[in-house]
Amino acid sequence: MVAATQRQGCALVTGASRGIGAAIAKGLAADGWAIGVNYRADADSAAATVDAIRESGGRAVAIGCDICDSDAPTRLLQSLDEGLGQAPLVLVNNAGIVQDALVPQLSDAAWDAVLDTNLSAAFRLTRAVLRAMMREKFGRIVNIASVVGGVGNQGQAAYAASKAGLIAFTKTVAIEVARVGITANAVVPGLIETDATTGVILPKIVETVPAARPGQPEDVAACVRFLASEQASYVTGSTVTVDGGLTSSL
Ligand code: NDP
Repeated sequence: MVAATQRQGCALVTGASRGIGAAIAKGLAADGWAIGVNYRADADSAAATVDAIRESGGRAVAIGCDICDSDAPTRLLQSLDEGLGQAPLVLVNNAGIVQDALVPQLSDAAWDAVLDTNLSAAFRLTRAVLRAMMREKFGRIVNIASVVGGVGNQGQAAYAASKAGLIAFTKTVAIEVARVGITANAVVPGLIETDATTGVILPKIVETVPAARPGQPEDVAACVRFLASEQASYVTGSTVTVDGGLTSSL
């Protein structure tokens, strides 16, 4: 669903060089948002996302920054100000990693990396953007969680814990800022075709999806576009599942 009317402003999408983040960046740009395209290492793919947005008449800048760095929020907001002249009114915490291992084999380093990227960085960035949103009396926080955050998955203890935490964090932010015109929602994808799922989405697994196909990054982006719009002002604290029915019978 695409917004019929659109506030002008800037949106920051973490992990937007590829996959779901790139689709979200392009979708929000099509709705009129100027986009901060954050990435960690893949500068070429981030540049391709920016080029695609500019070729379609939108505004975007690529911002290389590891969101786990303690000064990441400061650097990201500074780069947005320099590149687009604005603070973000939309924040999409999309960047995420997976490090699979059964719990007895799960290292401290893997646990910390997943929790830091998927949860702690989202907290620090959300905290950093809220002040400007409060001044504008408008803001949209959209956190990309996972169906695994609600049901668990063998070998994914850290990932599941991070995404469950992200959903609980989202609901709490929603309660705290609802009265000042800011919404916070979680989008909960199922199996989406990206680099992260190459080799994972086997025919046997697709058979378990009622929609009988894996999702595409644009399926997730469509939801984010609606949640970022002015029309979604009364949708907050929600989890919107985008999984082709995968978890409907659970
Ligand atoms: P990809 O692996 O395809 O892309 C991940 C993106 O995150 C890349 O742009 C990567 O940047 C960026 N990134 C990773 N770590 C950092 C970091 N520390 N700092 C900045 N950027 C970082 O992932 P997907 O598109 O598949 O997934 C996107 C989100 O959706 C994730 O949160 C994931 O958990 C979630 N999700 C995905 C599902 C799926 O089936 N694909 C299902 C459910 C949830 P770079 O390339 O530069 O390193």
